[in-house]
Amino acid sequence: MSGSAGFSPKINDPAFAKYQKASNKWALTFAIILALIAIVGFPIYGEKSGEMEMPQSLYYGLAIGGMFIAIALIQIFRKGRDITWDGVIVGKQVFERTTHDKNTDTQTTHTVYEYKVKRSSGKVHKHQHQDCDTVFNYFDIGDKVRHHKGFDGYEKYDKSKDAIIFCIACGTINNISDEVCVRCKCPLLK
Ligand SMILES: [Zn+2]
Repeated sequence: MSGSAGFSPKINDPAFAKYQKASNKWALTFAIILALIAIVGFPIYGEKSGEMEMPQSLYYGLAIGGMFIAIALIQIFRKGRDITWDGVIVGKQVFERTTHDKNTDTQTTHTVYEYKVKRSSGKVHKHQHQDCDTVFNYFDIGDKVRHHKGFDGYEKYDKSKDAIIFCIACGTINNISDEVCVRCKCPLLK
């Protein structure tokens, strides 16, 4: 059994809105926890190490904590303003990238799998995966794809020859014969 050709209307399933709401809530909760750790941690550290005094250490904690919350809010805001758009896979290439670690003075060579998506507006989005070719192999040049508002990854238009499908919500690889994602239970757009 395989998928079909055409973008799936299942993206309108309420499970996706619910997933996004829950993921925003989790991101904000996580940021608040980090902020509280910073607000409490800086004064304690300042006191114990003798490197910082009150109230400076508290101000540091508040500034760092505020930053965590601000970053989370900006990400949530950006997701809310995102739009759905269609594009085409226009380029694929594989190359090596060598990184140098100053501390250990060692070099590591990675294989980078890159694919490019061109929007109808002309803008090109470049995606790279290091040492992992699963997504790279999933797309061919010329494939029509759709980006869904607030989600990463793309829905492929023609899924008729595929054995796997990526969950648009959480990115998990699923068998094309399944109806919902094994991990997050969102419907598979097939
Ligand atoms: Zn999922």
